[in-house]
Amino acid sequence: MAEDDLPTEHIIASLAEDRESTCWGCGLRLLLPSGASTFKCGWCGAITLQTAQKQKDKSLKWRWLRDRGFVCVLLLFILFVICGGVWAVYPIVFSVSLFCGIFHSTVTIVLAVATLSLFSLAAFRSPGTPPNVIWGSYPLVEKGDLENYTFCNYCSKPKSRRTHHCRSCGMCVLDMDHHCPFIGNCVGAGNHKHFIMFLISAIVSTIYISIMAVYSLWHIWPPLSVHELGRLNGSGSKFGWSLSKDIIHAVLRSTTLLSIRGFILIYLFISSFSLQIGLIVLLCQQLWYIYEGKTYLSHVSSQGDDGEKDCQNLLRFFGCPSVSFSRHLPIFRSSKKRHEK
Ligand SMILES: [Zn+2]
Ligand SMILES: [Zn+2]
Ligand SMILES: [Zn+2]
Repeated sequence: MAEDDLPTEHIIASLAEDRESTCWGCGLRLLLPSGASTFKCGWCGAITLQTAQKQKDKSLKWRWLRDRGFVCVLLLFILFVICGGVWAVYPIVFSVSLFCGIFHSTVTIVLAVATLSLFSLAAFRSPGTPPNVIWGSYPLVEKGDLENYTFCNYCSKPKSRRTHHCRSCGMCVLDMDHHCPFIGNCVGAGNHKHFIMFLISAIVSTIYISIMAVYSLWHIWPPLSVHELGRLNGSGSKFGWSLSKDIIHAVLRSTTLLSIRGFILIYLFISSFSLQIGLIVLLCQQLWYIYEGKTYLSHVSSQGDDGEKDCQNLLRFFGCPSVSFSRHLPIFRSSKKRHEK
């Protein structure tokens, strides 16, 4: 029906229902139907939520304290593993030969320094956050510059599709992968590489600890008393069963003769072995997402159009961290051209 055919009061009523709204990205003013809660700006492409209001997070301090407490516990555990390993293994490797001792000391120092420094970088470096902006203050935004960007109502910042607000960190994180409780920090564009390097370093260290624990246990394990094996003269499965039973008994008897050093070595082996399995699974998963051009969050939210499976993604990730950091920032051109409001 043409507007000319409508009674005058009807036109006035429908105009009164429309609301004026401002695009947070470019400041463009638009008349929208009052029912519309979300609109996408036709100029810059930013998505504005009409009902959104500035929000404050009250429990942020407690979450920060909890995360930092967990990081301290983990740091103490890493230090315990390093000190316990040094105390348990050193007398044994130096008793084998001086060369063995010096070699072991060098490897231990390199791995300990690398793991601790990469852990600190991943835990305390900023994961990367979008620049500060004020609502509608983008005079230089050009057509399509903020395509599908939304606005964070906690920190008043623009969010690309791969930027998310983390309530534990209380900030928006560029290329957010996940919030990792073990480093008490988000994994994002600013520290993703350090996180991956930390995983690699931790895996190499735990493999080395397990090998050294087994090697040292081999040297100090009390001799097995298997004299009873001689009485066996059965055959087949009965013989096999009795033999394994006797071996288990002999190992258990000799375990009771182990020193404290031996028990610490057993503990180091079990903890480092189980830790390395978890870390290897995590690393493989992370490398797969990078190869796919995704983050963990874009994977779980099924944003399948984020990237292509390509080895270049891995090379770019390790070769040039600034590539992934700058890719999702809005592009502000130096051009003075301004659009009509
Ligand atoms: Zn706009
Ligand atoms: Zn935010
Ligand atoms: Zn976080």
